[in-house]
Amino acid sequence: MAPSGPDRPAHDAAAEMQAKQQLVDCIRMLEQNDIMDYNGHASIRLPDDRILINSGPCQRSSLTIEDICVIDLDANQLSGKDSAPLERHLHCGIYRVRPDVKSIIHCHPKWSTYLTMVGKPYQPVYAQGSLVHPMPLLDSPNSINNRAMADQLAQTLADRPAALLKSHGAVAVGKDIVEAFVLLNYLEENSMRQYMALQIGEPYVFTDEEMRLCRDKLWNAGLFQRAWDHFRAKLR
Ligand SMILES: [Zn+2]
Repeated sequence: MAPSGPDRPAHDAAAEMQAKQQLVDCIRMLEQNDIMDYNGHASIRLPDDRILINSGPCQRSSLTIEDICVIDLDANQLSGKDSAPLERHLHCGIYRVRPDVKSIIHCHPKWSTYLTMVGKPYQPVYAQGSLVHPMPLLDSPNSINNRAMADQLAQTLADRPAALLKSHGAVAVGKDIVEAFVLLNYLEENSMRQYMALQIGEPYVFTDEEMRLCRDKLWNAGLFQRAWDHFRAKLR
């Protein structure tokens, strides 16, 4: 059996450090792009099912790896200088039932949340927006700060890559943090375009066939990495 704690092999420690840095970059990029405010959180599941997550009180704009906590699948905090967020349950609930998911982001972005406030369904109005359609909706504005709400959200998300939470926010998941980050960006960009188009008319919504073509072409790790690199290069 592999040793744990301080005796963990050096390569594991290096991988964990790299994951923490990716988490830091992801959160700072989301904050810089007005997708995350002072409340959002992102996580990475490690191979041993421990979860890296930013602390609740941390400054998202100037985050460092010192702000990253470790929790387990039952939301118990294992380490970290500050407390993990109250909504840590959201991450645990999804990881418990989605073995394919290795990274989760939850925050309270404006454009997609506006749609949920007035009962407008999310509709793909630009190509990348197709990747997260159909979009499940959690029909409750309540915080995901307990196991029951977390299980309800995980059930709503089911096998989808993203969901909206009514008058609350959004969640995106991925097989890695790059995927979760990019899908959240697509979700919010599409919502902004949909909202804006609604101000001047009825937006064109992609057909099922057009969405299928978009998904075939755009669900691509190389394109996801390019989008991540675009935002990473602008990080102040
Ligand atoms: Zn929230």
